[in-house]
Amino acid sequence: MDLTFTPEQDAFRAEARAWLAAHVPERPLPSMDTAEGFRLHREWERVLHDGGYAMVSWPVAYGGRGCNLIEWLIFEEEYWSAGAPGRVNQNGIFLLGPTLMEFGTPEQRARYLPKMARSEEVWAQGWSEPNAGSDMAAIRTSARLDGDQYVLNGQKTWCSRAAFADWIFCLVRTDPKSERHRGLSFILVPLDTPGVRVRPIPQLDGETGFAEVFFDEARVPRANRLGEEHQGWKIAMATAGFERGLMLRSPARFQATARRLRRLWEARGADADPALRDLVVRAWMDAEAYSLSTYATASRLIAGGSIGAEASLNKIFWSEMDVRMHETALALLGADAGFLPPVAPPEAAGWLDGFLFSLAGPIYAGTNEIQRNVIAERVLGLPRD
Ligand SMILES: Cc1cc2nc3c(=O)[nH]c(=O)nc-3n(C[C@H](O)[C@H](O)[C@H](O)COP(=O)(O)OP(=O)(O)OC[C@H]3O[C@@H](n4cnc5c(N)ncnc54)[C@H](O)[C@@H]3O)c2cc1C
Repeated sequence: MDLTFTPEQDAFRAEARAWLAAHVPERPLPSMDTAEGFRLHREWERVLHDGGYAMVSWPVAYGGRGCNLIEWLIFEEEYWSAGAPGRVNQNGIFLLGPTLMEFGTPEQRARYLPKMARSEEVWAQGWSEPNAGSDMAAIRTSARLDGDQYVLNGQKTWCSRAAFADWIFCLVRTDPKSERHRGLSFILVPLDTPGVRVRPIPQLDGETGFAEVFFDEARVPRANRLGEEHQGWKIAMATAGFERGLMLRSPARFQATARRLRRLWEARGADADPALRDLVVRAWMDAEAYSLSTYATASRLIAGGSIGAEASLNKIFWSEMDVRMHETALALLGADAGFLPPVAPPEAAGWLDGFLFSLAGPIYAGTNEIQRNVIAERVLGLPRD
């Protein structure tokens, strides 16, 4: 890995920085888990798209810029440094998008990717079910072929932003006699299909973007299947690799949190327990280490390599780092940490909110216990669970 940037990469960084400085909303947008926040985040995505920054690493034909992964990392650094909003269509652009590029037909790519890049269609992920979370191969939602349509029945749960999203990508059982990971297919479903019911799940902070999705004889065209029939597991595992490995949580996000933590220490640290200073330093070093390891992964991928079980190492690292950083901030804030905006003092605003969300990190994208099983079995070669 070459740690120096080329003049072209430096120029791209400067260009992105200037554009973001001119366009990032002055005030943070309301949470995307509220109807109004979701609408405003969708508008922001259109601004990004019109500026050519919706998904810099996608081909130009699909609304991207044709950048490589190093340039994507550079863009992410500038994006989070500028305090830009979280990406409301992250399930689409970071997870389904790369999956479509790998497994979609040319017609599917042309149909879905440009609308995704503009966030004209925002995507939810429909994998988990009440009895199939960590054990995803236990899913029971069915899709039977009737003529040229699939008829869906069953229930998905824990679907982020499904209350407001337009489409959901689902893993469903297309062979009723099949067991475990055989006989599953990957299907794309508009959430306004008759027979689809979305029921919001109120979160710890009272917001209701999270939802359950019920299918009752809901019909979608056969052409909405991604990849071969009954081969959905392989595709879902590729999507999970994008989620855990590189795309969903870029290092820049944690580097920005580490900088905020350092500023909090500068404001509040003088009277604090020196042990907390060590945690601030550790947060900084962890974020830098994650960044360097991601640059190494990106360089390897550009050279033709692939991401394997190390996606699980990444996932454990970023999710645990995020919790530690927020716990350190709350300890520095003391009693002021106990309030959410708008009641929280300005310095504390966002930290409690961020802490509550960080607690979900070891759960979503596959729990850390399961990632440890993957590492034990596939990296260390220990006996199966
Ligand atoms: C904020 C958030 C957003 C989410 N968004 C989505 C989404 O958009 N779409 C979607 O489909 N899902 C989503 N999920 C669901 C998430 O993927 C599941 O919660 C997760 O896979 C765990 O499944 P479960 O909740 O059924 O827990 P369970 O599988 O019941 O696990 C309960 C506990 O047991 C442990 N456990 C289970 N099996 C083993 C084992 N073999 N060895 C060791 N420990 C084990 C787990 O690690 C966990 O700690 C989201 C979850 C959260 C918290």
